[in-house]
Amino acid sequence: MDYRGRLKRLQSVLAEKRLDGLLVTSLPNIRYLCGFTGSAAALVVLPDSCYFFTDGRYTQQAHEEVRAAKTKVARKAALAAAGEWLAATGKKREPKKLGVDGEHLSLAEAARLRKMLGPTFRVRQASALVERLRMVKDEEEIERLRQAALLGSTLFDTALKAIRPGVSEAEVAAEMEFAARRAGAEGMAFETIVAAGERSALPHGRASTAAIPGRGLVVCDFGVILAGYCSDMTRTVYLGRPSAAERYVYEAVREAQLAAIDAVRPGRSVGEVDRAARNVLKKKGLARYFTHSTGHGVGLEIHEAPRVAREQSEILQPGMVITIEPGVYLPGRGGVRIEDMVVVKEQRCEVLAPVCKELTTV
Ligand code: ZN
Ligand code: ZN
Repeated sequence: MDYRGRLKRLQSVLAEKRLDGLLVTSLPNIRYLCGFTGSAAALVVLPDSCYFFTDGRYTQQAHEEVRAAKTKVARKAALAAAGEWLAATGKKREPKKLGVDGEHLSLAEAARLRKMLGPTFRVRQASALVERLRMVKDEEEIERLRQAALLGSTLFDTALKAIRPGVSEAEVAAEMEFAARRAGAEGMAFETIVAAGERSALPHGRASTAAIPGRGLVVCDFGVILAGYCSDMTRTVYLGRPSAAERYVYEAVREAQLAAIDAVRPGRSVGEVDRAARNVLKKKGLARYFTHSTGHGVGLEIHEAPRVAREQSEILQPGMVITIEPGVYLPGRGGVRIEDMVVVKEQRCEVLAPVCKELTTV
C-alpha cells in the first residue's frame, strides 16, 4: 500500500486547512495511513513528519507493520503518550493548531488532551479529513475489495443449500460464517442477516433462533473481511411458490437496483443514484416501503463515505466503491432487498461480484 502517498495527500489537506498537526485516533484511519492493524494506537501527523504511538503489547507488531511513520512505544495509553509528546515538543509562546476528529474522541479524552497540551497546542475540530481520502480507493484497495466481494458472494450458494423450512435462521448464518472462515476470511464484516417470512420485513433482521417457515421470502445480507477489506451483499430468495403479488414486489426491487446501478457514473451525485432507485419504486407504488438509503461506501469499514442517500450531494469519482441496495418492506408480510458492491470507473461502474438476481426459489 502507498502509505507515503496517503500521508503526503493528508499533509497537503492540513496545509489547506491551516492546521499545524492532526491527531488521528480512529483505528481504521490509522491503518489506512500507516498500516498498523492492532487495537491500541494514536498517530500524530505533522507538516513534514508522522509519529505512531502504541503500547508495549504491540512492540513487535508495530515494527513489522508500521510504514511512513516513526514508532514510539509508550508505557502508557497511546493517546496519553501522544498528548505528552506533543506538549513536550510544542512551544508555549506560539501555540499551534492541532486538529482532532470529535467523531473519534470522547468528551473525557478531549478534556484530558487539552489539559496535557496546556498552552502549546490549541485543539481544533477537524472532521473526516482521512475519511475523505479513504473514499476514493487505489488499485490495490479495489483489488482487495474485489477479492473480498468474490469470496463473500460464494456464501450465497452456502445459504441456498442451508435454507430449508424448520431450520433456524441462526443455523443458516452459522453455515455461511463457517464457510467464510474456511475459505480464508478473517471474519464477518457485520452480523449476518438471515430474516425469513414476516421477519424479512425487518431491514436489519439479524439471524435469530426463529425457524424458517414453510413458505415466504428470506433476506440474506452478509459480508466478509479479507485482507482488511469488507464485502457486503444481499440476496432475497423465496421458499415455495411466490404469489403474483410477491413476484411483483421482487421484480420492482430488482428493477430499482438495476436502475440505480445504471445511474452510477463519475460526475453524478450520490443523491441522483438514490433517486434512480426511488423513482422506479414510486412508479410501482412501493416507494413508501423503501425506508432506508440506497447505499454506502465500503472499504476498511463496512459503512464508509459516501452515503448514497436522498439529498446527498457528494459527486461520484472513479475509484469510489459503493453498495447499491434498495429494498421494500411490507410490515407483517415480508421484505425484499438486493445489494451489490460496485466500483466507479472512468465511465459508468462495474459490479464487483456479479451473481444472479433473478428470483431464486428453494
Ligand atoms: Zn448489506
Ligand atoms: Zn450494505
